[in-house]
Amino acid sequence: MTDRRRGLSRRQFISGTAAAVAAVPFAAALRLDAQSQAGGARDIGLINGRIHTMDRAGRVVSQVLIRNGRFAAVGNTVVRRGGGLTVVDLKGRTVIPGIIDAHNHIVLVGNRPGWHTPLEHVLTIPDAIAALKARAASVPSGEFVTTVGPISAMQFDERRLPTLTELDAVGRPVYIQAAQGGTRTNSEGKTWLEARGVTVAADGTIAGQAAGLALQTLRKTLLTPDTRKRTALNALQYYARLGITTHRDSGAFHADEPATGIASENTYTMHAPFHALNREEQMPARLRIDFLHQDSPTANPPLPTLSQRLRNSFPRFGNEWLKTGGIGEFTGGGVDGLRAIARAGWRAEDHALNLNGATTLITNRETVNREIPITDLRWVISHVPEFPAELANRAHALGMGVLVGWGPLRTGTNVGPQYRTLFTHGIRVGYHSDGGDITVINPWLNFYTMITGRNLAGQSILGEQTLTREQTLQLATTANRWFIWEDDLGSIEPGGHADIVVLDRDYFAVPEEDIKKISSVLTVVGGRVIHNDGVL
Ligand SMILES: [Zn+2]
Repeated sequence: MTDRRRGLSRRQFISGTAAAVAAVPFAAALRLDAQSQAGGARDIGLINGRIHTMDRAGRVVSQVLIRNGRFAAVGNTVVRRGGGLTVVDLKGRTVIPGIIDAHNHIVLVGNRPGWHTPLEHVLTIPDAIAALKARAASVPSGEFVTTVGPISAMQFDERRLPTLTELDAVGRPVYIQAAQGGTRTNSEGKTWLEARGVTVAADGTIAGQAAGLALQTLRKTLLTPDTRKRTALNALQYYARLGITTHRDSGAFHADEPATGIASENTYTMHAPFHALNREEQMPARLRIDFLHQDSPTANPPLPTLSQRLRNSFPRFGNEWLKTGGIGEFTGGGVDGLRAIARAGWRAEDHALNLNGATTLITNRETVNREIPITDLRWVISHVPEFPAELANRAHALGMGVLVGWGPLRTGTNVGPQYRTLFTHGIRVGYHSDGGDITVINPWLNFYTMITGRNLAGQSILGEQTLTREQTLQLATTANRWFIWEDDLGSIEPGGHADIVVLDRDYFAVPEEDIKKISSVLTVVGGRVIHNDGVL
């Protein structure tokens, strides 16, 4: 989330000059077609894989049997052909459990106007244009191809967004609003926006307040229940292709009407497209929903929205595909709000942007805990760029956990989080991208930074505070169970939900620069084949 209240300025995020990273050969175009539609659960046997179970023993096995949406058997001789079983020879491919992103803004992404086209898998301008052109082929003439949010100038070798001229090759009006790096349109988009009072520079740049007006105009004009549902489905499919099988959404800033802010939506209606997909049994991934609240400290009666939420909804309620979670990423009611959440027995999450912020959050929780115990409620602080051992001790004593990630677009030196220190501390630590509006959701871009200590421009930002590949994956799988309060996700073990990702390359062995390029060739969620790149 981005907000005036957050301490990071845009400037801190924007990349300066930087070493070039290796170009990425353009992988398959976005597959948002019928092939990747969610169908029913299938019984599947995977053989000849390098299957990293992420179980306690850290077993790597060659076979797994999926029946009725769950893992039925895991080992080296557990798959027998016959009985309607689909057997897939993985030919030595690397397999991991479905990735859990324990805090992102996928619901915002699912409500973007136009034919929102995620570009987090492309790392050069020509690849971005090719992906947009591939998308345009299925977009009616004259309709907007958009990319709003999880895209950054820093991700491209060129360290810039595409130009108006480059975007003209897409053949449709194009609108790109980057998490960091500006807003851009092409000639057709410029004509359309200018006709509606939006100032667009000759080079297609839309600056300052004009960008807010542009986004608001696109929202007012283009959003319908059907387009939102299409975009929500596309977004979940896209990230399933990148290996995410469970998202916990951490909300938006509430706006009754179409808003100018990239992190704003109507927080009472924005889940509707996901509910629609769930009703139609079309969910390509699991969604857990947190509720963000920001009540005014002077409101009378106090806590007007939070108190109604706690009275009229249920935490952790829903089905396996879509469930409510807790309050976050802002609890928004100060100590009184925390008291109300504790009394209701809900989970609470706030983010911390610096040491002062984190210290205040912990102190407030200690105050509440003296009156109403929170130690069993799994409260969370996310981001935690600065979180020394003394603070981790205090949070740990409150039964709390911290979410780390939030990193590949950041700049500076030793900007945190202190991955290595926290990993070995003993406090619960999980992974979150926080992507969707100010940063990227693609787990491989995030993992790249956690492992190498470098941002997407190749600059060293973490010092020694890096993790191994195994530790990183552990945070995004088994460690995140505690954070989403579900023990049958995040590993490949008998009885667990059959969420599994077959990778296009070996995460554990590829050169570091190639971690950014990883994607899935086969994603199965609850036994449903969500993404299949010709493997099955
Ligand atoms: Zn967030």
